Amino acid sequence: MMMPSPSAVPALLLLLILAFPLSGIAQDRAVDETPDLVVGIIVDQMRPDYLFRYWDHLGEGGLKRLATEGYLFRNGYFRQGQTSTGPGHAAQWTGATPAIHGLVGNSWYVRELDRSINVIEAVGSGFRGVGSQPDYDGEKGPVNMLTTTVGDELYLHTGHRSRTVGISRKDRGAILPAGHTGEAYWFEGSTGNFITSTFYRDELPEWLQTFNARNLPQEYLTAMWEPLHPIESYVESREDNNPYEGQTGGSTAFPFDLPGMMADGASPSLINTTPFGDQLLLELARAAIEGEGLGRGPVPDILSVALSATDAIGHRFGPGSKQMQDHIIRLDRYLADFFSYLDTEFGIENVLIFLTADHGGAYIPHYLRDLGIATGNPDNETHVNNRMLSAIGEFLEGRYGRDLLLASSNQNLFLDHAAMDELGLDPEQVRIELKRFVLGLDAVAGALTAENLTRTEYTLGPRAAMQHSWHQRRSGDVVVWLEPQTRSNTGTGGTGHGTPWVYDRHVPIIFMGHGIPAGQSMEPVYVSDIAPTVATFLNSPFPSGNIGQPLNDFLRAR
Ligand SMILES: [Zn+2]
Repeated sequence: MMMPSPSAVPALLLLLILAFPLSGIAQDRAVDETPDLVVGIIVDQMRPDYLFRYWDHLGEGGLKRLATEGYLFRNGYFRQGQTSTGPGHAAQWTGATPAIHGLVGNSWYVRELDRSINVIEAVGSGFRGVGSQPDYDGEKGPVNMLTTTVGDELYLHTGHRSRTVGISRKDRGAILPAGHTGEAYWFEGSTGNFITSTFYRDELPEWLQTFNARNLPQEYLTAMWEPLHPIESYVESREDNNPYEGQTGGSTAFPFDLPGMMADGASPSLINTTPFGDQLLLELARAAIEGEGLGRGPVPDILSVALSATDAIGHRFGPGSKQMQDHIIRLDRYLADFFSYLDTEFGIENVLIFLTADHGGAYIPHYLRDLGIATGNPDNETHVNNRMLSAIGEFLEGRYGRDLLLASSNQNLFLDHAAMDELGLDPEQVRIELKRFVLGLDAVAGALTAENLTRTEYTLGPRAAMQHSWHQRRSGDVVVWLEPQTRSNTGTGGTGHGTPWVYDRHVPIIFMGHGIPAGQSMEPVYVSDIAPTVATFLNSPFPSGNIGQPLNDFLRAR
């Protein structure tokens, strides 16, 4: 065997380096090396306990892979107390809270209009739906978001070369993560098509027209929704036929005869309340990556995938239901397929993936009540919020001779400022008296006035959370929140979220790919920390309203 000549040694070394790239070894990454693609997965209404509750039923390639191959933050929380989809899908990408990005709810009352507007409603803009039937889907765009997103900053940072695409079943789930400079596509339930708004473009891209023409929702709805495994093995869940849950397409328990419901005239929106809605969205994710060529250019791109089926199933059946268990088991499989697609297409070390949620969710209050657990829902019929509002109306009428309440929205009470002026009332005094009265009502846990919220900085518990949700122009005169385990409406037919309590604010935060080491952290961290973490991996500036901190645990290992 001949020894290589001295001059051939560098060439051999080069060959060795090419043959055995240092991919996946975090410490060896160049300081300026960025992932080709960021994939942010937001599971709507995913509680972190689902991961462990259903652990024994999960496969190796989905949620378990994230938790064991990736870096799992077990104590991830929302700072905000208004835990709903709109503000929840902005936190990951803005690093801000509603007090800063201004998205104080899924909708909020606007004094000038004397009505509520939707979080993605672009009032007076003239924007229309694109690809929708009949070519109208309301005036939609990200115009109410007051700050930039990770995608916006990356777009500016790269001389407009980076692209961000947001997809979701929900318009707000697609629009807010896409930021001001990205593209957003969402589901139109009446037609089964994914559509957009003239805010973004005047025609659907060709790849999306092709995707819509496949009619996948209609195809998926030709199958029954039955438990993937024998239902007797779902021992982690309560019995299926019970008085606490709502229904999907008229059925309250397994099996769900989706083809029968379609034959009876249901629209493709039926898919929203089944696991197949998420299967559809992950199929769209692949089409978007391929159609847009995401992650193939000289600079990184971003794809936000907001999966909404967990939310729809949670609202109807709640955490602890057989339906939720089956859904998470199926979602786990869909995610496994998607991760293996990313493996094949890019190599996981070239993709930065995170998975989190937009909020958690509450156990059904009257299920808890029947187990002897405290709740502010006294019975199934009492509409707790209506009861509170009529008591407030009577109080204001009796005290000031006029019902001064204009509106109640997102746990905020809006007083009639013109009427107070007319009556010569001091607004601060009215707010103090209203707060005192409200604090005496059944099921009310706390209240703060606008003065409290502007003069004091709260640091702990629901007061701090409600302050993070309060915006001086978009929020009300008095903020009220209900006791834990309390539903603001009647106590029947499912559950919800939106409170400052831990079950609504605690969510999973998991990172995987791009050389991130396996590990877990018990440190309390916030969803708003995701944006500066991702921006650090992208070497791009933080979003303009960011108050998050980069998650150092694995940045240190980088
Ligand atoms: Zn929801």
